[in-house]
Amino acid sequence: MTGIYSAFGVAPEVEHYCGAIAASLQERFAQADAAAEINQARVLRAMQENRVDAACFYGTTGYGYDDAGRDTLERVYAAVFHTEAALVRPQLVCGTHALAVALGANLLPGDELLSPVGKPYDTLEEVIGIRPSPCSLAEYGVSYRQVELLPDGSFDWEGIRGAINERTKLITIQRSKGYAMRPTLSVAQIGELISFCKSCRPDVLVMVDNCYGEFVETTEPSDAGADMVVGSLIKNPGGGLAPIGGYICGTRACVERCAYRLSAPGLGQEVGASLDVKTALYQGFFMAPVTVAGALKGAIFAARLYESLGFRVLPGGEEHRHDIIQAIELGSPERLVAFCEGIQAAAPVDSYVRPVPAPMPGYDSDVIMAAGAFVQGSSIELSADGPLRPPYSVYFQGGLTWYHAKLGIIMSLQRLYEKGLVTLPARADG
Ligand SMILES: *Cc1c(COP(=O)(O)O)cnc(C)c1O
Repeated sequence: MTGIYSAFGVAPEVEHYCGAIAASLQERFAQADAAAEINQARVLRAMQENRVDAACFYGTTGYGYDDAGRDTLERVYAAVFHTEAALVRPQLVCGTHALAVALGANLLPGDELLSPVGKPYDTLEEVIGIRPSPCSLAEYGVSYRQVELLPDGSFDWEGIRGAINERTKLITIQRSKGYAMRPTLSVAQIGELISFCKSCRPDVLVMVDNCYGEFVETTEPSDAGADMVVGSLIKNPGGGLAPIGGYICGTRACVERCAYRLSAPGLGQEVGASLDVKTALYQGFFMAPVTVAGALKGAIFAARLYESLGFRVLPGGEEHRHDIIQAIELGSPERLVAFCEGIQAAAPVDSYVRPVPAPMPGYDSDVIMAAGAFVQGSSIELSADGPLRPPYSVYFQGGLTWYHAKLGIIMSLQRLYEKGLVTLPARADG
């Protein structure tokens, strides 16, 4: 297979080294394909049961009353996530917005929000008010408490029991590691945590930030007792085709409040034109199980490759996966930048630009982001990013096809190699 990538400037020794690692991963890849097959069947069945037809794709304008395609798509999501209701809208502008809507709709002044899994994703700090912000939950009188994970990544059961009090209204659980070097939670672990929290306080609501987790396993946190699961359509469930949107799947009571918060009290889910995005939302959801499997293969390859070169990777190359993110501790800003340059250089779009670290709204340190995506900022498409702070971890995710993910990772290593930031062992032993 040598020479495929020479046109991209990949040195023969880099291509050879990477090829040996990739060749050792067949068994892992078969597991990803098996999950994709099950999830593909689940999505297909939901589309059939809800009688998806060409009329579902017609665009709507104005108020969007009687948008049957929008309502059917929400039933399809609810069927796949096994929830009573779903809100799936282009008006949910990103994952953070969907999470902010879910929290804001279900927390009232005097209520307390608890995260039993440590610090939430960076952009939620301002939503919650951990970092003061106008319109944060804190400003509206919602207090917040957090229980750290134990050093080995497990739950602090006693700490969680102690933190749940009479004001605790909603518990937020982030499935994916986000920008933290902690393990991603499996659906089974999330289920155990939900049961424990509900045994401490039966009427507490549980929301799971499901970003990057959809379709990695064959069940979702809503199968494990979550009242709401929330995510972004420009990540996994959009399948790379959705140009915008977010989703909230959950109990009818929770989702109705979310719809009132998103549009207006009294209007709720009845309004919201879908313009011309519905075909992409349907087709993306249809493609998502296979797209996610491709992204998983890329993550597994990146883990094994960089682990073989002596870097700390999370999860490890042999570990089970619960999201599509691969963290690699690169240990220096030069390596972080070089890695991202390689990902960028492999992109179908904007391959000629060079990513540079810059401040980002919602993040408290400079961030470097590499992406050459068809949908701006899409991170189900091949992308890499990381905050410029020790230990200089890069978070790598996506890839609409496994082969593109593979090239991106090869290019990342090529950049490190040509800048003398890594040495290749004599042979790959992966
Ligand atoms: C991406 C992400 C978010 C925020 O989503 P955006 O679409 O970037 O606003 C929240 N939580 C987690 C775990 C994420 O990965």
